[in-house]
Amino acid sequence: MKITADLHVHTIASGHAYSTVEEIARAAALAGLQMVALTDHGPCMPGGPHAYHFGNLRMLPPKLHGVELLHGVEANIMDKEGRLDLGEPYLRRLDIVLAGLHIQCFSPLDAAGNTDALVAALKNPYVDVVVHPGNPEYPVDLERLVLAAVAAGKALEINNSSFLVRRGSAVNCRMMADLVRRHGGLVTVSSDAHIACDVGRVDRALEVVLEAGIPPSAVLNLSVERVRNFLAGRGKRRFAGEQEGSY
Ligand SMILES: [Zn+2]
Ligand SMILES: [Zn+2]
Repeated sequence: MKITADLHVHTIASGHAYSTVEEIARAAALAGLQMVALTDHGPCMPGGPHAYHFGNLRMLPPKLHGVELLHGVEANIMDKEGRLDLGEPYLRRLDIVLAGLHIQCFSPLDAAGNTDALVAALKNPYVDVVVHPGNPEYPVDLERLVLAAVAAGKALEINNSSFLVRRGSAVNCRMMADLVRRHGGLVTVSSDAHIACDVGRVDRALEVVLEAGIPPSAVLNLSVERVRNFLAGRGKRRFAGEQEGSY
């Protein structure tokens, strides 16, 4: 099992990541990837980009070093109602929207409250993936979350960085993976790289997928075709337009 797209990568625009778009694309090519999603943190993150950063991503070439660049964000979920720190005019122009809880923008609640926030974010029509729901800083009712993701036709992330920087994630990720398999959900397996040499590095996350017996067809980013179809089905302009032949 090998990914062909890394759908969660940060550049220097995040303020606490260390590689440029150029370096990320080169590393992705070297790692054998065909696609990478640039998903810098939303504006609430200290040192993060201004919203206008996301409005100007069209300045990037469609491909760099042969790697397709998706315009994305890792938006911060701000409250229990699932509100995000990036406005609709920006979200609707992006190719992929990740949403997650971060300590800088959302103080942990109890499991019911954290789950409310994630489930509410899943109802936002622009959100495609909920990231690092296995983070033990935020206890979550994983079954409720998985069922909500399945109902919304959206993906949950198994985040490789979590195994290194979010201690205690492994148990939660494994539990979530079991639930995803049981309920027929969809996952992404992502690096959450904050430096170019980590792009495409998803070994620990893939282990969890294999251990849980999630079928390859349920891992979105094993195939760029599957990513394109998923995002087209979600009405993302770039891919929906492509299907109509107008891109
Ligand atoms: Zn970060
Ligand atoms: Zn994150």
